[in-house]
Amino acid sequence: MRLQKFLASCGIASRRKSEELIKKGIIKVNGVVVTEMGYKIDTEKDKITINDKEVQQEGKFIYVLLNKPVGYVTTASDQFNRKKVTDLVESPYRLFPVGRLDYNTSGLLLLTNNGELTFKLTHPKFKVEKTYIANVIGKLTKEEIEAFQNGLQIEDYVTSSAKLKVLKETEESSLIEVRIREGKNRQVRKMCDAIGHPVLHLKRISMGEIKLGKLPVGKWRYLDNGETKYLQ
Ligand code: URA
Repeated sequence: MRLQKFLASCGIASRRKSEELIKKGIIKVNGVVVTEMGYKIDTEKDKITINDKEVQQEGKFIYVLLNKPVGYVTTASDQFNRKKVTDLVESPYRLFPVGRLDYNTSGLLLLTNNGELTFKLTHPKFKVEKTYIANVIGKLTKEEIEAFQNGLQIEDYVTSSAKLKVLKETEESSLIEVRIREGKNRQVRKMCDAIGHPVLHLKRISMGEIKLGKLPVGKWRYLDNGETKYLQ
């Protein structure tokens, strides 16, 4: 899209006035001043700023799936100045995470600039199933698995039914698949603690129909049309 058209579509000024702003040399594309009329930009990737303030196209929503590495926070600011998931996604838009993953949890995390949408994925009333793979300490007994699945008392609430499948086990640890339809703070970790098998590592692999697939750790991709439709 031509830069002046983009500026106009963002509600900055009319197309003519936008051309004047470009001539004045106050518009930057990816940090570089552009004065060339008709300069073409990629609205998905390029970062456009006026006086170093980012310009966003109204109504342009993007949806990103990130494979979050361990050691990143999902919050916008962090008192300990730790690395943020938003640092991993290059985008001209200010993105924020849909729901949360702990600092020490990896896997599927969605990010968007769509602040208005009530997400099916996080609203408790939709009870969307989230799947996690956890490596936990020790071997699980039949009774512990049943207790996990039937509901556990955690602080001031009782978890609703969950699914737990043992994928692999040794004397020291077990690899398990956990499916829950709630999303309380650190819920999987707390549930594993409650049956006496603390989590060594936790990774989310799906949220409803959205799957992590083979996306490498630390990498991201845009959701495809089918996935975006599913979110609405
Ligand atoms: N449950 C947890 O314990 N941690 C997460 O990050 C997500 C679910």
